[in-house]
Amino acid sequence: FDRLSSVFVSNTNHNEHQPAHLTLKNAAVPVQTNLAKYAGPEQRYCPAGVYEFVKNDDNTDRLQINAQNCVHCKTCDIKDPTQNIVWITPEGGGGPNYAGM
Ligand code: SF4
Repeated sequence: FDRLSSVFVSNTNHNEHQPAHLTLKNAAVPVQTNLAKYAGPEQRYCPAGVYEFVKNDDNTDRLQINAQNCVHCKTCDIKDPTQNIVWITPEGGGGPNYAGM
């Protein structure tokens, strides 16, 4: 399975209007520290591809958080080198819900 297929089979759902369950303590840290020093580990350790470094129009980097893909493994809460990512329980009990387990 590729990453997005794995997200699909996890049957995880998020209500479109729920508050973000993944936030940053300091929005500058992902680019200034994680990307500069560690080549952005969040784009590699997340099994669901939630964290992506993308380019702004002026060619600077920014971290995009695709929270709707999160499968609630909490790896980011543990592995972020500066403990800058805050994971809170999402609303609604939306999974993961693996069929046949
Ligand atoms: S908890 Fe963190 S590492 Fe796990 S899927 Fe969600 S965003 Fe990715």
